[in-house]
Amino acid sequence: MTINTVAPAPPAPVRTPSQPAPSIVLDAKIPDGPIEQKWEKHKFDMQLVNPANKRRYTIIVVGTGLAGGGAAAALGELGYNVKSFCYQDSPRRAHSIAAQGGINASKNYRNDGDSTYRLFYDTVKGGDFRAREGNVYRLAEISGNIIDQCVALGVPFAREYGGLLDTRSFGGALVSRTFYARGQTGQQLLLGAYSALERQVALGKVSMYTRHEMLEVIVVDNRAVGIVTRDMVTGEIEVHLGDAVVMATGGYGNVFYLSTMAKGCNTSAIWRAHRKGAAFANPCYTQIHPTCIPVAGDYQSKLTLMSESLRNDGRVWVPKKAGDTRSPDTIPEGERDYYLERKYPSYGNLAPRDIASRAAKQVCDEGLGVGPGGLGVYLDFSEATNRLGVNTIRERYGNLFDMYNRITGEDPYKVPMRIYPAVHYTMGGLWVDYNLQSTIPGLFVGGEANFSDHGANRLGASALMQGLADGYFILPMTVGDYLAKNRQSRVTMDHPAVSEALNEVKARTQRFLSINGSRTVDSFHRELGKIMWEHCGMGRTDASLRKALELIPALREQFWQDVRVPGDNNELNQELEKAGRVADFLELGELICIDALHRTESCGGHFREESQTEDGEALRDDENFSYVAAWMSTGDNSKPMLVKEPLAFENIHLAQRSYK
Ligand SMILES: Cc1cc2nc3c(=O)[nH]c(=O)nc-3n(C[C@H](O)[C@H](O)[C@H](O)COP(=O)(O)OP(=O)(O)OC[C@H]3O[C@@H](n4cnc5c(N)ncnc54)[C@H](O)[C@@H]3O)c2cc1C
Repeated sequence: MTINTVAPAPPAPVRTPSQPAPSIVLDAKIPDGPIEQKWEKHKFDMQLVNPANKRRYTIIVVGTGLAGGGAAAALGELGYNVKSFCYQDSPRRAHSIAAQGGINASKNYRNDGDSTYRLFYDTVKGGDFRAREGNVYRLAEISGNIIDQCVALGVPFAREYGGLLDTRSFGGALVSRTFYARGQTGQQLLLGAYSALERQVALGKVSMYTRHEMLEVIVVDNRAVGIVTRDMVTGEIEVHLGDAVVMATGGYGNVFYLSTMAKGCNTSAIWRAHRKGAAFANPCYTQIHPTCIPVAGDYQSKLTLMSESLRNDGRVWVPKKAGDTRSPDTIPEGERDYYLERKYPSYGNLAPRDIASRAAKQVCDEGLGVGPGGLGVYLDFSEATNRLGVNTIRERYGNLFDMYNRITGEDPYKVPMRIYPAVHYTMGGLWVDYNLQSTIPGLFVGGEANFSDHGANRLGASALMQGLADGYFILPMTVGDYLAKNRQSRVTMDHPAVSEALNEVKARTQRFLSINGSRTVDSFHRELGKIMWEHCGMGRTDASLRKALELIPALREQFWQDVRVPGDNNELNQELEKAGRVADFLELGELICIDALHRTESCGGHFREESQTEDGEALRDDENFSYVAAWMSTGDNSKPMLVKEPLAFENIHLAQRSYK
């Protein structure tokens, strides 16, 4: 069904009322039994759909990154009809393409002591004991299959001279388990998923809707039955109905405005679902990556990651003396502080991201930072270049060095890179159970969009692993189980909930176009980002968060009164697209701060300055905060409701995280 948006400007409320939040208990549905057997047993216990019946079902998959593209291809391969959506002009432009460094798998090709259990252990510990054991074990268990699947799809992973797949090390692990394709791992993996997806498109099992932005989820009798989209070229508002909806719409780090994520990354799909009843879990867990190119000016719109893989050979340091402006090559060894190697001798430069980021902030706060404004530390390859030769360094990191050179005008083969932490990934997202189903039955969430298996801090090279585990291996099973167990009658286009969702989208779109204020969407976004970074960034305090909670609602109010969205709906209108996304960021930003304020402990990427050890490390409060914080929307201008999912650690003992 296709309907043009011609409704007159409505006197619509700024935020559409959502249904009152029901009182809910979160059941993670973790299967019983020993951890090594849970997934196998669960797969056997799931109901299967008769192959002949699969073609009667339609599954909507929003997102064509590694999680969504993988899921759509796998579901199509199984015989379901799939409708696949993305806002880019091609599925292979999903943000996953930006991933650089690699993907973890516990294949133990190096014979260096890796195992499923070790990957499980490293991930739970790396996440500062705020992830679900059952999910993480499954992730580790599936990791090897992912590599096999990708090789079968033709992904050109780096190989050693003898032809075996090569690996390298990433932060938070003492084994070498990261498979890679130079500094373009995401691109190669996505091309693999894209080929599998296009094969299904050619076979007629997957219908592809590019340049379609999902703006609402349709819920009937507490079941997700479809979505409302806007054709970004013509402005047409369309309804798509299906038997289940999968969202794999990526992360929301751009709530901070500046991040390493693609400019288009946003929260709207999951935020709309949240407003319709999906719990949002751990929104305050943000990953700040230690090795990014420092901010260069006020009008910068994007930050660039320098892959963590560089820390395999690059050494991080600052001058020992504050205000030392000598060029780095003239500073003698004895006057340098290799602070990661000093503070964390066992992991050194491969300390996990949250720890390495805080350590960089600390030295910069002490006045030891380098470069303009003192917000930078050196990542130095001179020792590795002397040891291995420039050709080896070029082979390993050539494209990353070129990228750095193009952006900064400095040659990292000759001078150390300057790096500083930046927002990179979001561990929070829609709450899902073991089946990756949200609190709205029939709505499944995969990849970075769900609250994920990474707890309070994600280890490097594990997002690609999780996205592909969700997409290729978990969702195709669990969505089938849902369909087999829920044989409700189909909702038709004339259902009142369909027109209600459609009207909500039309009213909102019209509202943006009719405000006709004086400020650009970007100016609001930039201001929100500053508030978030300053008050809810690498360090958070009770006072800073309370301040943010005053500033954000005021900014949101101003947005709805004074934003200017030029142009029309019935055309390509990027300002209109951005307005919808920023409006949602303005609500999400508040929830992030509410979550951060309530969690008075420090854990992983959430560093509450009031809660630290004597030597400045994150101090958890397991007695009071060993839970997933899932927030339910309760409607406009009322506080969200917190629902807790307690975390049980039966296989790994809770311990103070140490990388020393
Ligand atoms: C610079 C960079 C480097 C990285 N390197 C690594 C690495 O080396 N290893 C690693 O493990 N991880 C890495 N990551 C993280 C990893 O790339 C991401 O977490 C992962 O790719 C996310 O995949 P996804 O499928 O969940 O989402 P994405 O790839 O972000 O895809 C989201 C999809 O959803 C669609 N979408 C979103 N909203 C809507 C909407 N409203 N309507 C319609 N479609 C919508 C988009 O069009 C897109 O197709 C890196 C991240 C960055 C920023």
